[in-house]
Amino acid sequence: MTSSVVNGGTAVTRLWTGDYYNEGNGSKESIFDKVKEECGVFGVYGHPDAANLSYYGLHALQHRGEESCGICTSDDGVFNFHRGMGLVKEVFDRDRLESLKGSQAIGHVRYSTSGSSQLGNAQPLVFKYRGGDLAVCTNGNLVNEPGIRKELEESGSIFQTTSDTEVIAHLIARSPKDLIEAVKDAFSRLIGGYAFLIQTKDCLITACDPHGLRPMVMGRLGEAYIFASESCALETIGAQYVRDIQPGELLVVDKNGLREDRFAPMVRRAMCAMEYIYFARPDSDIYGVNLHTSRKRMGQILAQESFVDADVVTGVPDSSISAAIGYAEQTGIPYELGLIKNKYTGRTFIQPSQELREKGVKMKLSAVRKVVEGKRVVMIDDSIVRGTTSLRIVNMLRDAGALEVHVCITSPPFMNPCYYGIDTPNPADLIASSKTVEEIRQAINADSLFFLSEKGLKDAVGVHENEYNNGLCMACFNNDYPTPVQFEDAKLTSCSCD
Ligand code: SF4
Repeated sequence: MTSSVVNGGTAVTRLWTGDYYNEGNGSKESIFDKVKEECGVFGVYGHPDAANLSYYGLHALQHRGEESCGICTSDDGVFNFHRGMGLVKEVFDRDRLESLKGSQAIGHVRYSTSGSSQLGNAQPLVFKYRGGDLAVCTNGNLVNEPGIRKELEESGSIFQTTSDTEVIAHLIARSPKDLIEAVKDAFSRLIGGYAFLIQTKDCLITACDPHGLRPMVMGRLGEAYIFASESCALETIGAQYVRDIQPGELLVVDKNGLREDRFAPMVRRAMCAMEYIYFARPDSDIYGVNLHTSRKRMGQILAQESFVDADVVTGVPDSSISAAIGYAEQTGIPYELGLIKNKYTGRTFIQPSQELREKGVKMKLSAVRKVVEGKRVVMIDDSIVRGTTSLRIVNMLRDAGALEVHVCITSPPFMNPCYYGIDTPNPADLIASSKTVEEIRQAINADSLFFLSEKGLKDAVGVHENEYNNGLCMACFNNDYPTPVQFEDAKLTSCSCD
């Protein structure tokens, strides 16, 4: 069922009179009302230029994490690695990359929240254990990590970081079995959403959780094997996409080639629906579905579910442009660039620091007066988290002369926290957890408000149609979590990929 509400033609009261995106609001809150993807991973096996390929691959995954990054290579068994705070292009230069010799590599980009924004948690993490060197990086979050960490600490383990990834390394190191069996044993203890890359001196291992909550793809570049969180990274380095890694799979690449194995059966596929809605790049494909195309379909279906008579359709850049084009195609209402993002404001340096976040709110979005003035505007966005951003953008459009602003959201109401690697605010701050759609409409000062239905979302993604929920996790919309989440000290995703 579509969630929507229309203000029946009455005058809309200005609810918020502060500054806008491009002026800064001086408040304590983040200017961005978006949930955050936590991390991206990239791996190479069997290419003499592994570090450079990783650099370009991580650059393509930069949207998945801007806080820190790192690359670890293996050069005939000798590990070379570098990690730093900042963007890939800031952390690595030519000299640094030249020092990272070797034909295999794993790399990582990371987003974190304030508590864990430190170099010590940057990945890949590198360990020495009785079997030699081990480098590990993760995308995702382990719900039962606190319990496992406590158990390990009580039996003598000493941790250097607050990272999930280190817990995995301890589990592997403590096992008396050979490496692959030890890795399988370790993974079988984990509950959560994750995609891992593990490097030893002479092999690369990748695995996805039994629900496949986080994406991972495999490609080939000549004889080399490439692994990446998203297929756009394969495209960037000229690699050919081979396939998505399946839930519960464990792949090993070494001098004998690729070994396809499992550490768990697939229980219920549950790819994160937010990857399709917002996180992944539009030029990426997940399970063969192109993200731009599926977002266009979200816009088309949203238009079928909730047509609004208007003069122009605009999308909040960048993630909602595809859906806005779809909405416009479906309705015949012209698509216009009613909102422009300033590309040159750059990243807010050390983003999780509240003080700097406040300074970083100069920017980033402007309404195009000549496009919206005197018009009834349909504004497409991908989600409403706290509602603060939607309010600012609606008011920005009104101040630029829009007669009406109708807000259409290409996801169902975001009501529940994520435990699987997406940084969501405190559940009480999720506006849809406590307000009706009509109350949200009032709070964001819109003339009408529509959300895409769950069915519409599933139809728009259009994959795994015979599987439960079409193989999607939609727990933040419907509270139907694919794993247990109620542990004594379950970890909400607020600082994962840790
Ligand atoms: S709860 Fe929401 S954000 Fe988290 S994995 Fe599921 S769909 Fe994605």
